[in-house]
Formats: sequence, C-alpha cells, structure tokens
Amino acid sequence: MNFSDVKPGDILVADGGFTCIDEGAELTVCRGHEDALYVACDDGRHYLDGQVSGKILIGFEPKAGPQWHEIKCPNCGRDDQLDVDAVVSIRLTPSGSDADMSEDESHIWDDNSMCSCIACGGRGKVRDFK
Ligand SMILES: [Zn+2]
Ligand SMILES: [Zn+2]
Repeated sequence: MNFSDVKPGDILVADGGFTCIDEGAELTVCRGHEDALYVACDDGRHYLDGQVSGKILIGFEPKAGPQWHEIKCPNCGRDDQLDVDAVVSIRLTPSGSDADMSEDESHIWDDNSMCSCIACGGRGKVRDFK
C-alpha cells in the first residue's frame, strides 16, 4: 500500500518479516511526535517511515475493512457489480418502505448470504466469490 494512504486509526496486518511483531498481528496506526506514524511493537514504538521503500509501505497490509470486502465474481472477475442479499431494516412509509430512513442502518450479511453479479448474471454464496 502507498505510505501516503496510511492514516492514524488504520488497522495494519504485519507480515512475517519482523522480529518485534508477530506475523499476522493487527496493529492500529498511532501518530507520535512530529506527526510520525507508528504501531506498537515488542520494543515500544515501531515507526512506519522506516518501513517505506520508495512510496510503498512494506511489511504491512491494510486490514480489510467494511468498505473492502475482497470479494469478486468468480465468472467475470468484477468486484464493482455485486449485489449481496443482506438483512436490512426498513421504515414503513405511506408509499412503501425506505431502508435509508430506518433507525438500524446496518446491513447484515456473511459468507452464507447470496450474492449476484449484475455484470454477468452469476449468482452464488458470498464464500464462493472470495
Ligand atoms: Zn519494532
Ligand atoms: Zn460476473
């Protein structure tokens, strides 16, 4: 990932190249003095600017967040045309219903939810789209 994309509060996953951080450890980026970004490690603070090669942060991957689902269509490879059948609450209105008005805006889905690819018409469980 680009070092310039790393922000305080981001969760990074360490690879196996550290003596002071366990492989796969999930670390929250903190901002230290002089705005230097670091994560906590066995030695205290592990400053990220020592992990930059060119503009690329090495040794860490961003943890997949809610916006980053890491699923794509097994047929056509698209990841921007996927509809997942999620459980949502909707507000009943005189003219029908509105998911955006409901108090609980969470959209519940998991690996067993059904997923459709709008681009090619493929359909299957989310787990099959990983
Ligand atoms: Zn360290
Ligand atoms: Zn597709």
